[in-house]
Amino acid sequence: MTASVLGVMAWKVLDARKAALASGSSDIQNLVHSLSEHASHTIQAVDIAMAGMVDLLKYRDPEPNRFNRYLAETARTLPQLRDIGVADAKGNWTYSSLPETPRHTASDRSYFAYHRDTPENALRISEPMQSRVDEQSSMIVLSKRITKLDGSFGGVVAAAIDKDYFNGFYRTFKLGPDGGITLIRNDGTLLIRWPQSDRGTDLSKTALFSKHLKLSSVGYYKIISPFDGIVKHLGYEKTPHYPMVVTVAMSEDWLLSEWWKGLRTDAIVAGVLLCMILMLAALLALQFRFRNKTERTLREREAHYRLLANNIADIIILIDARSLLRYVSRSVEPVLGLRARDLIGKSCFELVHPEDRESVRQATTRLRGIDSVSTVVFRHYRADGTLAWVESKFKLATEPSDPARTEFLCVIRDVTERKRMEDELTQLNRRLTQLAATDGLTGLTNRRTFDGFLRREYEACEEISVLLFDIDNFKGYNDTYGHQAGDRCLQAVAKAIGNAAGNTSGLSARYGGEEFAIVLPNTPGDEALRVAEAIRLTIRALGIPNTASSRGYITISAGVAAKNRSTLDEAALVGEADAALYEAKRLGRNRSVVYSSRDLHYVDSASIQHDGEVAPGERTH
Ligand code: GH3
Ligand code: MG
Ligand code: MG
Repeated sequence: MTASVLGVMAWKVLDARKAALASGSSDIQNLVHSLSEHASHTIQAVDIAMAGMVDLLKYRDPEPNRFNRYLAETARTLPQLRDIGVADAKGNWTYSSLPETPRHTASDRSYFAYHRDTPENALRISEPMQSRVDEQSSMIVLSKRITKLDGSFGGVVAAAIDKDYFNGFYRTFKLGPDGGITLIRNDGTLLIRWPQSDRGTDLSKTALFSKHLKLSSVGYYKIISPFDGIVKHLGYEKTPHYPMVVTVAMSEDWLLSEWWKGLRTDAIVAGVLLCMILMLAALLALQFRFRNKTERTLREREAHYRLLANNIADIIILIDARSLLRYVSRSVEPVLGLRARDLIGKSCFELVHPEDRESVRQATTRLRGIDSVSTVVFRHYRADGTLAWVESKFKLATEPSDPARTEFLCVIRDVTERKRMEDELTQLNRRLTQLAATDGLTGLTNRRTFDGFLRREYEACEEISVLLFDIDNFKGYNDTYGHQAGDRCLQAVAKAIGNAAGNTSGLSARYGGEEFAIVLPNTPGDEALRVAEAIRLTIRALGIPNTASSRGYITISAGVAAKNRSTLDEAALVGEADAALYEAKRLGRNRSVVYSSRDLHYVDSASIQHDGEVAPGERTH
């Protein structure tokens, strides 16, 4: 822009300069033409007057007083004419426009010698010369030869033109401080110069005479003035009829003065414009620098974030409102074996296990504010098709004002290993709980669990029965077959008891060493006794030999008690069952006895079902 402004300015300035010089040229040429006409007319008027006089003096010598008056009258009429006189063939003044005819001779004057020696009637214009009448003034003498009828030289008519006449006229033109007008005789003799100068009066060696006048009688060119050494534009023109040249010169500075003024104004305008452009440019540069700095900072910050996002173990993703992935950190590659750029634009659900998609969707819909986070653990496919357990924390990336533009930020972590350990731990815990509740040898519920179950059911049920079993003569069995065989026997008995209770809503347990118990909720005593009897018979039917028993096989005794109005609590109920068991043992074993609080009688199972091996006396009490 600066170059353009400067270019336009320069073009305009040069154009204006050319126009100023062109206008100056035409002014100078017009003036020089007018002045050459003027010089010609000035001389011509005197020439005509002198021609009449020469004609008269050719024939006779007029009466001095009358002719002198005529001459004075002529000098008065023509303002350019200072005085006019007639000299005879010897050079003595015979007539004069002056009040007194001069006494001195004109014979030594150049014009006199010229006319005396040159038989021509043409007007001669002299070089400037000093007046002998008025010592101060300088003049130009116009002279004509008087030729007598016989052809002899009869003297000259000479008219003095005051140089001040021309100077006074030339002064009226405005030519600038270094401008000037000259009137030059054709041989190069300077006649008039305005303003006056003391410099040389012979101009025949100048370019005007040596070159320009030879080419054309009218012309215009540029010179370095021979008077003052200043560059000037000069116009010249030969005067018509008379051997003279008029020149008008003006300094280039003067011709261009108006142009200079315009140039100053233009320079100020251009300067202001350029300043504004420069200020704008500086402002823009500042703005650009600031923007560059901001962009660089942003780029660096983004690079930092990318570095973080790509190098942490977690995967960072950005999901748009249509559930399409907009950004996926490169950490997806080491974690899931997937390439980040392959995922961009795909649905975030594409690689989620179909069963988990709904929970993932719900995790995003659960989000309420910009600060809320919702976490979901789900299965995600790896690149090789295997499943990874991942934990994902969802967060809103934008204000939730416009649902169509909502974006979600999600941090995903591979928790496959953690999930595996959690599952193992859960399994272990379950196993531990089971172990804590189970008897190791028989697999039945242990005593502690049994007690808890009984306590709850006792509170909850109106009717409830407790059955206690004890293997008969087991000490002897251990002694006979060994402790390990004893354990196997315990397992077999426990299995039978467990199976029997498994069909009911009750719970069977190993109550002590070789003692077992069953709780039957919502079961009255008589029904419980039937269950006990069924179990006793089942165990007998196992046919486990026991030589320590009088019956030759493993048998059990059972004590049954049912909750009744007088039962205090569950411990009392167990106590009653124990009492019944004790009674069964006392009556000879291999039997079931139900406790009855009403008459404090025990009902023996033998009264319900006969066992041939039992002595009749042991049946009822
Ligand atoms: P009774 O008919 O009066 O019940 O006679 P008994 O021999 O069974 O007498 P008791 O009930 O007092 O004996 C219990 C025995 O059970 C003692 C112990 O040697 C045996 N026993 C207890 N727990 C275990 C066990 O876990 N394994 C084995 N092999 N034996 C056990
Ligand atoms: Mg016992
Ligand atoms: Mg026993």
